[in-house]
Amino acid sequence: MQITQSKNLFEKAKNFIPGGVNSPVRAFRAVGGDPIFIKKADGAFIYDEDDNAYIEMINSWGPMILGHNHPMIREAVIKAMENGTSFGAPTAREVEIAELIVSMVPSVEKVRMVNSGTEATMSAIRVARGFTGRDKFIKMEGHYHGHGDSFLISAGSGAITMGNPDSPGVTKGTAKDTLLAPYNNLEAIEELVAANRNEIAALILEPVPGNMGLALPKEGYLQGLRDICNREGIVLIFDEVMTGFRLAKGGAQELFGVTPDMTTLGKIIGGGMPVGAYGGKKEIMEHVSPAGPVYQAGTLSGNPIAMAAGLTMLNYLNDHAEVYSQLNSIGEKIATGIKETVSSLGLNYTVNHLGSMYSLFFTGEEVYDFGTAKHADTALFGKYFQAMLKRGIYLAPSQFESLFLSTALTDDLIKNILDANKEALKEIHQ
Ligand code: PLP
Repeated sequence: MQITQSKNLFEKAKNFIPGGVNSPVRAFRAVGGDPIFIKKADGAFIYDEDDNAYIEMINSWGPMILGHNHPMIREAVIKAMENGTSFGAPTAREVEIAELIVSMVPSVEKVRMVNSGTEATMSAIRVARGFTGRDKFIKMEGHYHGHGDSFLISAGSGAITMGNPDSPGVTKGTAKDTLLAPYNNLEAIEELVAANRNEIAALILEPVPGNMGLALPKEGYLQGLRDICNREGIVLIFDEVMTGFRLAKGGAQELFGVTPDMTTLGKIIGGGMPVGAYGGKKEIMEHVSPAGPVYQAGTLSGNPIAMAAGLTMLNYLNDHAEVYSQLNSIGEKIATGIKETVSSLGLNYTVNHLGSMYSLFFTGEEVYDFGTAKHADTALFGKYFQAMLKRGIYLAPSQFESLFLSTALTDDLIKNILDANKEALKEIHQ
């Protein structure tokens, strides 16, 4: 496989962009080799600057749930562009998308649109603090909520991949209000609550974390958190930036039947445009400016082009329940196929899987929190990644990420993925 154009672009990019990329994991540092520069994408495929085609397993880190460059979304964007790209004033589409989100996501009674998942989580914590009059919040080790200062403490995703789970630049003053707990451990939450009674504004988590690789909540865990938060007057925030509109049309909260007080959203909500949102109970969201005193704003928030893409995507998902059974079936075939290959080759690795998300961890141990995820052999993952890439399969370039499947994966493509997986696993164990 020739990647001359990508290599040249990366060399040039490093002169002008820190590390040559606009988001750290894209630099492939955790897996070795040079990053692939993408020219275009369509359906299940992305194409690099050297015209190599790859089957997509990340889908822009989640948004492209229907595959790339979906004609319906493309047309909605082009049509919206004809009327101008930004107004900085309210539009009918913002009302429509807000009403739709409220109807789809169980916890959301009112919603504010922002431009990224990072903005959504930062704003949600501020609102929870304003609502409760408390400063501290609980965050789970290895969960990622974007790059807001108070979240870059034992953070997952690129932060672990790049070895910066606690980022320089975050002050001790900020860090002291972030309380850390291991995921899937209710006792640890009880201890934190007892030690900080009436001081904790919020508990935020990825209900199904994808940013330390995929892990699943243990039976009763999410409900246990709900009960503690009810008892202690803590705002429970589900960060569904990854899982929202993916695990079900109402996200993990619908799937597990546990309703948080607030929810943060991103990725799919923008249909590939830069969009995030946070929402929740009316009485909490009424604290957001201008209804209430907690300030949060954005020049491009509710951007008309982004709203056209997002609205088209959400309307489609809302009207087509079969998308979720299709995604579940695709996810099942791939995860089962990988498990079968792992065992047929006499290997012992863990596959975590839910719906259209999965991770193959290079450890034989069960992975259910950050500590267990870190047992994975990241060097071996790097070899696997390269072995898959050269067979035309584009995985997330880190062990600590979930993969995000799309409806564009046909049975033939699934077979290609599973064949490549078998060959790649054989190659890295030679
Ligand atoms: N929350 C979660 C669960 C995420 O996975 C991400 C990004 O991957 C974010 C928040 C941050 O979103 P963004 O990258 O749009 O700022």
